[in-house]
Amino acid sequence: MTSLDLSNGFDVHDYRAKLKLLRQDAGSMSLANREGLSCPACGAEFDRLFVSDDEAVTFDSAPNGPICVARTDERLLVLTH
Ligand SMILES: [Zn+2]
Repeated sequence: MTSLDLSNGFDVHDYRAKLKLLRQDAGSMSLANREGLSCPACGAEFDRLFVSDDEAVTFDSAPNGPICVARTDERLLVLTH
């Protein structure tokens, strides 16, 4: 299983074939995991990935499952399972 590698930051283009873009706005995007990528925090396969360059983010609702958070120097990543 391929894990998201954050050691050199996160560039969605590195995973273009493995992630499906669901939503995008100025500073953030939501992606679906379609190739069994594993979470950089817990190692389990994740369901959705949210990536943001914004300083602060608000979520209107929370998923039921586990949530993992990871970061690079520029980005915040939230992964749901
Ligand atoms: Zn995780």
